[in-house]
Parts: sequence; structure tokens; C-alpha cells
Amino acid sequence: MTGTAGRGAPDAVAPDAVAVGVDVGGTKLLGVALSAEGAVLSELRVATPQPTVDPATARSRRDQGAVADAVALLVRELQREHGTGPVGVGIPGMLDRSGMLRFSPHLPGSAPGDVRAALVERLGAGLLHLDNDANCAGLAELTLGAAQGAGTALLVTLGTGIGGAVIVGGCVQGGAYGLAGEIGHMVVDPAGPLCPCGRRGCWERYASGAGLARLAREAALAGSLFEAVALAGGDPELVRAEHVATSAAGGDAGSLAVMETLGWWVALGLANLVAVLDPQRVVVGGGLAEVGEMLFAPTRRAFLELVEGGSHHPEVPIVPARLGERAGAIGAALGARAMAGLDCADPGGAAHVGIDRRGAGSSAGGGGAGSSAGGGETAG
Ligand SMILES: [Zn+2]
Repeated sequence: MTGTAGRGAPDAVAPDAVAVGVDVGGTKLLGVALSAEGAVLSELRVATPQPTVDPATARSRRDQGAVADAVALLVRELQREHGTGPVGVGIPGMLDRSGMLRFSPHLPGSAPGDVRAALVERLGAGLLHLDNDANCAGLAELTLGAAQGAGTALLVTLGTGIGGAVIVGGCVQGGAYGLAGEIGHMVVDPAGPLCPCGRRGCWERYASGAGLARLAREAALAGSLFEAVALAGGDPELVRAEHVATSAAGGDAGSLAVMETLGWWVALGLANLVAVLDPQRVVVGGGLAEVGEMLFAPTRRAFLELVEGGSHHPEVPIVPARLGERAGAIGAALGARAMAGLDCADPGGAAHVGIDRRGAGSSAGGGGAGSSAGGGETAG
């Protein structure tokens, strides 16, 4: 949670205004127009401007202005059709409450920068809400998806990396600085493989799409993954999640073993997080979760072995997310509606989920950023 981004006047927004949410990813920007009832009216996607490589230093550098330009263009395109309403943007990485992107290993070449300023410059009063992308997805699942009604829950997105949203008291928690939920970078093996964050053995090196690719490559090189390698055109380096999933679905023993190992790694991180949070429910989304029971079944089995107390621990349902790849964009739009002071359709309610409305509600120009260390207490 990062809070308001500027000059939006909450009382100037019509209750039935269509909100726009944009999810900024490493490869694409996904934007949705969301009705007051929480229905997606339109969806647009464009490629994320890629970093350029400086030939002198061989270092990549991403032009944040170009990314902000692309976000603004997408927003305007959606608003052209649906009118001007609240706007929310989800950003991958460590985005603090003031709107500074401090660190973003999955937007390579990104220097720390004031994302809020860049977007306000382009969108003006229209931009109301900025947050980490996984927090946005958490807000969407909490309001409209698989975490509805949960007071305490954990959302985990398994994609190229791992994102997380921590839900306590029916609210997505931002933490002291807005950086809560960076769960993919919990270190599970200090001697493990290098992570894009610069350290070794982060959870997401094992339990994400990249982790599956690594497990598959190891199995292929050990000679136990013929079918998935064949599906990948014969090159072990090209084996991806879908190849393993397809051959595992056909009963291939080597691929089933890889899914079992992947499930163990997913469960290891979940068991650690459950020890901290004691959630009612764990919601697992992201591209990798779309393989379904092939991942969920081994994850649940391993979780029972790894969670403290085992069978003595109360059951923690591990369930699939419901909103798919649009969750981040939908959550960004929901966050924007909440910041604008508009009620949400669902009584489970995004209106005060994970969002510090004190700043937004009391001052149209002030912005809630940084105004609350506790963040996200429910208003009702
Ligand atoms: Zn890491």
C-alpha cells in the first residue's frame, strides 16, 4: 500500500464512475475499466517499454518516463471509452508509502525513482492510488475473489517470481513503510541459486515459474524427464511449466516427480508464513497456479508435513485464486475507488481495505502517503 498520489478530490468523483486499474508487469501493462459493481468493462494490454543496454558499460537501464508514458496512454485510452474516474496503478517491487520505487528486481534496469511524481505529472488529478502489484491482487481477491470474507489470509502469486499480500483484520497490510508482503525474497537456502534481488536462495528461486524451470532442467539433465523435454523441442533449457504440466497430466512419472518437488518448495514457504500469520486461508494465484491440482495436491500434502504441529494444526485451506491474471489491475482499480471515497459493491469491501483513507478523505491535495504507520485498519 502506498496511498494517494495527488490532487484527486474525492467528492468530485461520481459514485458510478468507472475506475481504471493498470498492472505494470515486466513484459506487459494490463489495464481494466471496472464498473462500480466490480465488473470488468474493458481490458487493454500493451508491451512494457524495455530497458536499453548501454554499450559502454553493458548495463541495462529502463527509462521510467517511458513506462509512465505507456501507463498514461493506457489510462487515457480506457477513459476515452468510459469517462474519467479514479485511477489505480500496481507496480512490481518495493514501492514505499511515498510512491518511491526503492527496488524492483523484476523490472530490470529500474533505478530507484519517484513513481508517484512521474504518474501525477502525466495523469494529474486522475491518479489516486498506487500500490505494489501483489497487494493489488490481494485486494481484488479479498473483495471479489477467493479471499472474500477472510479476516486473516495470505495471498501468494506464483509467477516468474513470487508476490504476496498479507490480509489482517480484513485489510491488506502495507506495513510500516508500505513494503509488507515481499515474501518471495524470504531466504530458504543461503547457499542456493542467485536471485535477481542479488542474494542467494530466495523462496522464489524454488517455488515460482523460474523455480519449476530449474527443477525441470535438473531432472532433464539427470535423464528423468524425456516427455517434457520432447514437448520443449528436445532442449532441456527450454522446458517450461506448461511442458511439465502437460506431461504430468498424461501420467509421466518424471514430470509428476518434478511437480511433487515443486509442491514441497511451495509448501515450505507457506508453512513458514503460516507460523507468522495464522491465516484462515491461503489463496494461491499467478500463472503457475493455473496448472491446478497438479500443484495444489502435492503442496497440501507437503504442507501437512511441514507446518508446525502437523495434523494438530487447525486446517488451513490452500485454495486457488479466482481472478486470474487480471487480479492486479482489478485490485488497482478497487484501490482507486476506495481512495476516492466510493463504496464498493461487495460488502466484503475494498472501501477501506489496506488503504489509509484518513489522508485522502481529509485533504484532497494532501495524499495519505506516509501518514500512517499502522495502515489499513478497517473502518467497519
Ligand atoms: Zn531474492
